[in-house]
Amino acid sequence: MTSRPTPLALIFTLITAVAGHTQVTAIKAGRLVDPDAGTISDNQVILIEQGRFTAVGPAVAIPAGAEVIDLSDLTVLPGLVDAHNHLALTYKEVPEHNVYYLTYVLDGTPLRAIQAVSNGIQMLNAGFTIVRDMGNAGNYADAALRQAIEQGWVPGPTIINSGIIIGGMGGQFWPTPEMAREHGIVYPEYLDADTPDEIVKAVRQNALFGARVIKICVDCKPWGYSVDEIRLVIREAAKAGLKVEGHVQTTDGARRAIEAGIWSIAHDAGLNEEMHRLMAQQGIFRAGTETPLSLTGHTTPERYARTVASLRNAWQLKVPLTFSTDADYWVPGKTRGEVAIAFLETWKAAGIPPADILRALTINGYRVSETERARGPIRSGFAADLIAVRGDPLQDIDVLRDVRFVMKDGIVFKQDGVMTPAPFFNGGPVRGWRVR
Ligand SMILES: [Zn+2]
Repeated sequence: MTSRPTPLALIFTLITAVAGHTQVTAIKAGRLVDPDAGTISDNQVILIEQGRFTAVGPAVAIPAGAEVIDLSDLTVLPGLVDAHNHLALTYKEVPEHNVYYLTYVLDGTPLRAIQAVSNGIQMLNAGFTIVRDMGNAGNYADAALRQAIEQGWVPGPTIINSGIIIGGMGGQFWPTPEMAREHGIVYPEYLDADTPDEIVKAVRQNALFGARVIKICVDCKPWGYSVDEIRLVIREAAKAGLKVEGHVQTTDGARRAIEAGIWSIAHDAGLNEEMHRLMAQQGIFRAGTETPLSLTGHTTPERYARTVASLRNAWQLKVPLTFSTDADYWVPGKTRGEVAIAFLETWKAAGIPPADILRALTINGYRVSETERARGPIRSGFAADLIAVRGDPLQDIDVLRDVRFVMKDGIVFKQDGVMTPAPFFNGGPVRGWRVR
């Protein structure tokens, strides 16, 4: 009886043969930053294969036939994270006088989805390889953006999106009765969910339509959510593997969100020293969205002074800090990515050392996004995302304002300060179609 290879063995042989011929990319890094340790090391070699890091170190041999990218005059570091952005919302002076309530009436979901693609590309160009997109995306433009990037239609950061913000009646809007009742104007910016049944259904709707995190209005209205209601959101979200971020604007709201055990709190208005102590104890992430004074019209000197003091207090009390911008507007002359990185100004004003700012921008960003075991750190087996800058961000954090090189999933997106996105555009879902 002759022994013949089984079909499975043939497939395995084929895969091995193909794998043996995969292209290896080797990056020569003049310096490599480890933001977790707060250290920098010289002359490192990073190997990349099939979109993942396969080796990192000073004595890594470059295989014959590898494509070599020489970044020996640059500092390589992991990609940056904006833990709170709104890529599918861009309010502006004309025509809506920066009132996003009007943007939502004037810009439909399809246009906002295209804006989101553009804003995502602008963020990636500024070095942000992960963006948490926290609602106000029309009818799931955020989910469409995430899917388009994941499937391989367009370049963009890894998107952790919230779907529609869930809140008590009205969300953050104060609509007229006829607009709210006869035209449902609150939807799709907000999902009205006032009763336990409605809360459960709203969480399930977002999970069904592609959310990767749940966002709630804790206290946008005087009625807000109680501790029990927030716990219900957290329990229901957990069934779909999702964490919950709370929009919080009062100290009472913060107290309720913290007591319920929320994952992250957005905005600093409700956060005082007592709340910071509780957040540090419980490991609740702070997405303070600290608007810099130089973005004229988007904060005031008084508000900025409070923001800086609050951020400093949170840092002193060791609250898990994330870098977050709440960017949802156009600043003429700036890309969305330039708006986001401008927030460094507030962190510097708070007297936070560069190493800790960088940790908020990277390590804590990966943790709040829950990618830290697969994407973020430059480590063998992880998704091959990295950026490079001139100078040393551990000495001067402002070097992050000029990102010279960006790699996403092993593909070069920016080189010598110029976008090279061609390999990211495809005529089909080259990275696989998926339903959600
Ligand atoms: Zn926001």
